[in-house]
Amino acid sequence: MRVVLLGPPGAGKGTQAVRIAQEADIPHIATGDMFRQAVREETSLGLEVKRYLDAGRLVPDEVTVGIVRERLARPDCREGFILDGFPRTVPQAEALDGVLAGLGMKLDRVVSLVVGTEALVRRLAGRRVCGGCGTSFHVELNPPQEEGRCDRCGGVLVQRDDDREETVRERLAVYERQTAPLVDYYRRHGLLVEVDGEQPPDAVTRAIRQAVGNGFPAGSGSGGIESRQ
Ligand code: AMP
Repeated sequence: MRVVLLGPPGAGKGTQAVRIAQEADIPHIATGDMFRQAVREETSLGLEVKRYLDAGRLVPDEVTVGIVRERLARPDCREGFILDGFPRTVPQAEALDGVLAGLGMKLDRVVSLVVGTEALVRRLAGRRVCGGCGTSFHVELNPPQEEGRCDRCGGVLVQRDDDREETVRERLAVYERQTAPLVDYYRRHGLLVEVDGEQPPDAVTRAIRQAVGNGFPAGSGSGGIESRQ
């Protein structure tokens, strides 16, 4: 199962990608997570990309495509993968086609999570992530059992620097300008399935399962949620 999860910041890509990757036993490849880790560890990549993340702008394509090319070539991607946050521009999508062709692979599906702007702003403003394991929570919509603490590992929950209001606005504008055209790109390639991302999280997961169809092992089930081509 080789899948891209597309959608604006706050659409739920990370939450859903973790679930799908676990169920299907495939790697979850999130360029944003890779960049944040590099920034935390102050590697040369981290130093190079920090200013883009802080400003809510996209990291240059050649850097991003480079790290994805390296990741996809690893053996654990042979049986499939779920890409979250990549590609984000049409040139990245074209580069991805080239990288996959070089590995003798192609994409099976692109799932686009559709969420209105109002809901996105609300989700991003209230999002808190675990500094330890990266799990996402929301102060109102999905609060942790103990305030400020991760249910999964007990780590401290923090607000992502780029979830602050000004950066959020810039990230949403960048999405409209640079990433939304990918929806048409993948529609033209016959790979796109749109899923209503404003449903409750479990319903979204079921709809994604249904969209990726037989990529799932038999018996893992697909909910009765409709997805549109
Ligand atoms: P995300 O966690 O997907 O919201 O990504 C956080 C930030 O990482 C973005 O605002 C960009 O600065 C950078 N980033 C993540 N993925 C990409 C990508 N595919 N292309 C360029 N920049 C990216």
